[in-house]
Amino acid sequence: MFYKEKCTVCGECLSNCPYLSYSEEKAKIEFEKLINGNESLVTSECITCAACNMFCPEGANPFDLINQRQEETGTFKTTDEWLGMMKMASRMPSKVIKGDPNKPTLSLCTVGDILPGVITGQLFKGLTILKGGDYFCYFGWIHGGKPSEVEKNAQKFVDNLAKTGAKEIILYHDDCYAMLASKVKEFNIQLPFKPIHIIEYLKDYVIENEDRVEKLDLKIAYQQPCASRYNFDKNRVLDELLELIGVERVDRKYDRENALCCAGVIASMTNKSKEEANEWKMKNIFDAKESGADGFVFLCPICVLNLRTRAKTQGMEPYILSNLVRLALGETLTHGGAGKIY
Ligand code: SF4
Ligand code: SF4
Repeated sequence: MFYKEKCTVCGECLSNCPYLSYSEEKAKIEFEKLINGNESLVTSECITCAACNMFCPEGANPFDLINQRQEETGTFKTTDEWLGMMKMASRMPSKVIKGDPNKPTLSLCTVGDILPGVITGQLFKGLTILKGGDYFCYFGWIHGGKPSEVEKNAQKFVDNLAKTGAKEIILYHDDCYAMLASKVKEFNIQLPFKPIHIIEYLKDYVIENEDRVEKLDLKIAYQQPCASRYNFDKNRVLDELLELIGVERVDRKYDRENALCCAGVIASMTNKSKEEANEWKMKNIFDAKESGADGFVFLCPICVLNLRTRAKTQGMEPYILSNLVRLALGETLTHGGAGKIY
C-alpha cells in the first residue's frame, strides 16, 4: 500500500532505481506525475523488482503506487506466454502428502517440482507436503502489473492453507512468505497459523543437528529474490545460517539493498528484448564472479532457471539454498546443486 501522506516527493525511489537511470530532478517530476495519476513512462519501464520500496527513506512504498498505476493504465505489458503460465498456476492439480503428524507442514506453492532432486533427504523427511494450485500464493501477479489479483485471491490462499489444520507452515517459496507475513496485513486478513520462512527452518535444523555439520569452506554469491524486499530481516537469518555451515557470502555490488532481479521479468516484458534481459543477467553474474564467488546460491527456483547455466559457465557452481545445507549435512546431490547436472 502506498502511503501518500508520508511521501515528500524527494525522488529517491526513482533516482536510485538501477533500471531507470533518472536524475534526481526527473525522478521528482515523474513521481509527482504518478501521485497525480498522470501519464508517466515509469509504468512501462519499471520492471517490478520492488527495490524502491526499500530506497524510500519515509517508508511510503512507492512501488505499490507504480504497480497500481501499471494496472490502471494497462501500460505494463508481458507476453501471452507469461500470462498463460500465471493463469495456469492456480489450476494446477493439488496434492497433500501426509507426513509424520509430529513434524511440520511444508508448502511448495506451484514451484516445488521445478527442480528435480531438491525436496528430498533428511531436511524434508516426514514433513507433510502441500503443493499445487490450491497453495499458489498469487504474489507473482505484481510482476504482471496486476496487483489486484494478489488482493482478490489472498483470502482464498490463506483459507486453503488453514484447511490443512496445520498450526505452523514452512513456506518454500519466498513469494508465499511475503504474501503471508507482509501483504495480508494490508488486506486485514488474520492468519490462523504461523508462517515459517524456509531460511528459518533450515537454520533451526542446522542448529539442532550441529554435530553432523561439515563446514563447506565455500565463497558464494547470493541471488536475493524480489519478494525478499518485503521481509528484509531474513537476510540476517541467512547470514547466520551460512556461517553455521561454513559459507562466506561475498560482498558485492548487486546484493542486499542493491540486489538485481534475476531478469526473468525483463525477459517477459513485451517492450524489452531478450538481449536486454541477458545484459542484466550477465551484469549480475560478472559482479558475482569478480567478487570472488565459487558458488552461486538461490532461494527461488524461478531465479535458478534464469541464472544457473550462466553461473556455471562462468565457473560458479549453482546451488539452491536447501541443497547447500544438504551438502553440509553430508548428503549427495544426485541432481547437482540446482537440479541440473552439467
Ligand atoms: S515515495 Fe519515498 S522516495 Fe519516493 S518520492 Fe516519496 S518519499 Fe521520496
Ligand atoms: S520497482 Fe524496481 S524497477 Fe520499478 S521503479 Fe522501483 S526500483 Fe525501479
